[in-house]
Amino acid sequence: MKKLYTSLNLKKTLMLKALGVDYIEPIASFKEPEIALPNRLNELNELIKNCYLCELSKGRKNTVFGEGNLDANIMFIGEAPGASEDNSARPFMGRTGELLTKMIENVLDIKRDEVYITNILKCQPLKGKAPTANEILTCKPYLQKQIQIVKPKLIVTLGDMAYSYLTNDNTPITQTRGHIFDMQEYKVLPTFHPSYLLRNPSAKKEAFADMLKVKEFLKTI
Ligand code: URA
Repeated sequence: MKKLYTSLNLKKTLMLKALGVDYIEPIASFKEPEIALPNRLNELNELIKNCYLCELSKGRKNTVFGEGNLDANIMFIGEAPGASEDNSARPFMGRTGELLTKMIENVLDIKRDEVYITNILKCQPLKGKAPTANEILTCKPYLQKQIQIVKPKLIVTLGDMAYSYLTNDNTPITQTRGHIFDMQEYKVLPTFHPSYLLRNPSAKKEAFADMLKVKEFLKTI
């Protein structure tokens, strides 16, 4: 939230600068106000559609908020929208999305719309560029709010980036995948990103084993 606040402040300062203001009296005692994000997903989605806090807003066609069961026990978190998602405003479309859907429907034996699917970033990264830490941290409060609203019991992170930014743990996925980590309000199970599985089909058997753990977990709730 501090990052979001800092970005908002920076945006205001740049606007003032553009209007010709070059000096502002420093504020002696300054209390950071609480910026409350909406507690309803549709309102949060509307807010994100109008978010211009980072560079990624310039290149997007659509924001990609997330979709699925608003009371889902399981939430899947990927990295960022790609071209198909940017065009459709929906997460995990195209071949990567097809594979994720198969992982959910064929292994967990539930429909894709019974889980909630979203990404760390709500906008497509700029062409050929990896998202910066600043872009990710600016977007993170939105994800945290989505998690607070949906209240999943288990979050399946897809790939290194989703796991490390959600948990602040940089342990490589080869060591974390398939383990269930207790984050107090929810548990996290990291697995490979479906786009990695498309490039490395031999890793599918490990991802399959991870999904069986998710299925076991579902039986306990
Ligand atoms: N990759 C992701 O991480 N998310 C998507 O929505 C699509 C591809």
